[in-house]
Amino acid sequence: MTEFNGIRDLVPTGVWIDGVAVPASGGRTFPVIDPATGDILAEVADASADDARRALDSACRAQKDWAATAPRQRAVILRRAWEILTERTEELALLMSLEMGKAVAKARGEVAYGGEFLRWFSEEAVRIGGRYADSPAGTGRILVKHEPVGPVLAITPWNFPLAMGTRKIGPALAAGCTVVVKPAEDTPLTMLALAAIFKEAGLPDGMLSVVPASDAASVTAPLMADPRLRKVTFTGFTRVGKILLKQAADNVLRTSMELGGNAPFIVFEDADLDAALAGVMLAKMRNGGEACTAANRIYVHNSIRAEFADRLAEKLAALRVGPGYRPDVDLGPIINAKQRANIVALADDAVAAGAVVRTGGKAIDGPGFFFQPTVLDEVPRTTRMHSEEIFGPVAAVYGFDTEDEVVAAANDTEYGLAAYFFTRDLDRALRVSDALHAGMVGVNRGVISDPAAPFGGVKQSGLGSEGGSEGIGEYLDTKYVAFTR
Ligand code: ADP
Repeated sequence: MTEFNGIRDLVPTGVWIDGVAVPASGGRTFPVIDPATGDILAEVADASADDARRALDSACRAQKDWAATAPRQRAVILRRAWEILTERTEELALLMSLEMGKAVAKARGEVAYGGEFLRWFSEEAVRIGGRYADSPAGTGRILVKHEPVGPVLAITPWNFPLAMGTRKIGPALAAGCTVVVKPAEDTPLTMLALAAIFKEAGLPDGMLSVVPASDAASVTAPLMADPRLRKVTFTGFTRVGKILLKQAADNVLRTSMELGGNAPFIVFEDADLDAALAGVMLAKMRNGGEACTAANRIYVHNSIRAEFADRLAEKLAALRVGPGYRPDVDLGPIINAKQRANIVALADDAVAAGAVVRTGGKAIDGPGFFFQPTVLDEVPRTTRMHSEEIFGPVAAVYGFDTEDEVVAAANDTEYGLAAYFFTRDLDRALRVSDALHAGMVGVNRGVISDPAAPFGGVKQSGLGSEGGSEGIGEYLDTKYVAFTR
């Protein structure tokens, strides 16, 4: 793969422990696949449980030193990592496009977005506060301080191979925690490249390890059972999050869970239609629809639904589909055959139930795992895609008649991550943003993620926040020190 050969030197392919890439202890490797062709891009070390334990040994050895490192010094390293990452935008974007499939322009956006977590948390590292109070009885002094939780296991998904790493590593290192990362098996190369960047930025060995593995649980379960681990942070499907929460109970681990979503996107009859269309293109098609914040259910008022669906179909039909690393491509492949099969099943189920295909609707034959950009209109609310994540380029449009009805429908899900709506009525904007059960609400905009804002869900979409001034708190324990007056 010539595209990959150009950046091969930047990407370690071993288990990253103590600042070097080493072969897996059993000598095994697993292939990383280019989803646009099905070709093997690289063979990566397949970490064993022993490798994972060695990574945790290293994190535990380093923990005391890192917690004692001056916040300013931690901040300098994070900021330097952001600078190097930014200088390497083109290489990292190409690498993500190769292993994950996204269009390279979108991958450049992820480098900027993902990098920003390092810059943001370099700025937060020096602002870890505490408080002091006299006890009401006047007999005691109350001192409250925040201390690093301890070694962290970060388990990351494939859809944002860089940003889901920096969003966890940034605040953990800023707080003074060491980190072992288990990257997604589909996209380990970006995380390994990031580890090498941190080393270049001056991060001492042992503070960050990366254990790629073809069988996630074989390396994560032993770590979760190890009492030295103090925190797990996970982004991925709810099903896996529940397994990890159960495992976390045994050692009462701190947990942060960014799980699945089923975001409603509501277009009221008074919306600016052009703005709503631009918004849905972002909310639905950001990352090719492979995002937990993706607009999964697009509710459009019945007075404007047909026009909206037509215009959306026109926009999606105009997208150029192909390998993401080609400059003229807007939409790359789906990550793998299994994910694509799920999208096919959801689309077939909706069409069988009576949904009207406005454009697309099918997988694309040939090498790679492509699916046509698709608009389905008049989708019945009894379909699987109304309650399950599509995670692909399929826009499902549902009609509605009243505000109360659509808000009830929007909330009728076990998820509560993102929600979006478009209206020009200020009272309605305030009322509906109060009424939606979601951790994040976008009003008249299709993108809500921002490193300076708390990202997180309610209900079965997760626990905790990433980003914002809240993000670093996920990696800090509270200690109360009592003094006598
Ligand atoms: P999938 O990998 O099936 O698409 P996710 O997107 O939820 O599922 O995966 C997110 C991350 O969780 C990946 O790094 C994956 O390897 C990891 N993972 C999957 N199953 C488990 C498990 N049983 N225990 C720990 N980690 C897991």
